[in-house]
Amino acid sequence: MKNALGKVYLVGAGPGDPGLLTLRGKELLERANVVIYDALVNEALLRHAAAAEHIFVGKRPDSHPLAQEDINRLLIEQARRAACVVRLKGGDPFVFGRGGEEAAALAGAGIPFEVVPGVTAGLGATAYAGVPVTQRGTANSVTFVSGHASSSEPGGDTSFDDLPREGTLVFYMGVDAIEQNMKALQEAGRSLDTPVAVVEWGTLPRQRTIVGTIGDIAQRCTGAGVDAPAVIVVGDVVDLRDTLSWFEDRPLFGRRVAVTRTRERAAELVHLLRERGADVFEFPTVKIETTQEDEALGPLSAYDWIVLTSVNGVDALFERMAADGQDTRDLHGISLCAISAKTAEALSARGIRVDLQPERYETDFVVQRLEEAGGEIAGKRILMPRADIGRSTLPKALRKRGAEVDELQAYKTVLPGDMEALAEELMRYEPHYVTFGSAVSARNFCEILGVDRVERIAEYVRFAAIGPIAAEAAAELGITVDIVPDVHRVPDLVEAIARFEAGDETQK
Ligand code: SAH
Repeated sequence: MKNALGKVYLVGAGPGDPGLLTLRGKELLERANVVIYDALVNEALLRHAAAAEHIFVGKRPDSHPLAQEDINRLLIEQARRAACVVRLKGGDPFVFGRGGEEAAALAGAGIPFEVVPGVTAGLGATAYAGVPVTQRGTANSVTFVSGHASSSEPGGDTSFDDLPREGTLVFYMGVDAIEQNMKALQEAGRSLDTPVAVVEWGTLPRQRTIVGTIGDIAQRCTGAGVDAPAVIVVGDVVDLRDTLSWFEDRPLFGRRVAVTRTRERAAELVHLLRERGADVFEFPTVKIETTQEDEALGPLSAYDWIVLTSVNGVDALFERMAADGQDTRDLHGISLCAISAKTAEALSARGIRVDLQPERYETDFVVQRLEEAGGEIAGKRILMPRADIGRSTLPKALRKRGAEVDELQAYKTVLPGDMEALAEELMRYEPHYVTFGSAVSARNFCEILGVDRVERIAEYVRFAAIGPIAAEAAAELGITVDIVPDVHRVPDLVEAIARFEAGDETQK
């Protein structure tokens, strides 16, 4: 038999929230040559394994799942040709995941393997529902039970008489047979009014928790249309949820927000929205492209000031400098002004301190602060790397004061590639909110969607804009913006949406 080249890592992916992967799991994904994964694995985790081959072996409505023996064979085959094979499984690989069978097959074939535990759904989904599985004085044991009703699986049926009468029970794979499961519990001696919670899609933005008792939970689940995957937690600890529910209580929980920005700049907004519980769809209405002009930048030493009005301007300045064979040392002796804290941060990330960062972006105020910092504007040479869409009146005002201003056409904004597919994807997503981070993203949003779709979506969506310029641009296209924060920064935009959500009783 040919010796195995590689090793198989049985890695727990956690219950859904991509943040619940272990550090060891992430490290192995980054090293993987092949990742073999199931339906319950959050596909967002595959971005840690961008270079690897991804093989899906789970159940999907449109495809037959691979039989367990075939998966075992696939693992062995892959280990014979690749160094690092990650078998990524939902939750924990050894909890109702058939990870034990896979490990046994590998051992039988002489293939080395390792197991990386994961957060199992019975602990992850319950924690996110605000239910501690044990609690002093309430429950001092927890039992994980298979709720699978099918007797076609040998040893698959649970003997309810053997289950403990006290303590917490957590059922996996139990929604389809919830009625039988609850009946069996009652027959085994558990009282009908024992609290029960069913947590569907636990730890994900679509998590839902249905609460009832052994007597009525089956009916409540049917009423709510609960489906797999869900865990069923039985016991008095369920009552603790009344005070401990945290995940579903976050201000934007269950809200779908479409963020229309460039991918490059959306990170902070997306992060803050998710922190507050929102489900976020990144809608890249604007793609930044640096202009490929031949015109050289010229020696930077000719300038007294470089005034940067955006992070994109900073990026573009450095790209152009590099293209011209200049670097940070060529900024020596030039005063730098950053409009906005973000722009100053972008410079600081490149190891450059700014000389001036005006508190407000108002033309007269900026001119005044430039004068205070560097003396008389008249005769000064100023470089302003800007976007072609910039609406700044600053260059004009500076020229009026006698400065010589060179505007570097730094970048231009273009519409992203496959607009039709993107528009349809957004319509299917049915956002509750759409955010505009700039006038261009509002305009491009309308252009990508087209009049019909904008009209349809405007019937139910709330629009939020970072500032009045973006809101005006939207208004010109017939879109009413409901939310504009007083301070035009990303955290304030998120805050404004959360406040709106809290007070919004009326549905559009
Ligand atoms: N190995 C997995 C369990 C696989 S069995 C683990 O450790 O979590 C599949 C069952 O897990 C589902 O039927 C459901 O009961 C449970 N499950 C998996 N993901 C879940 C989720 N996000 N929310 C609730 N239950 C989940």
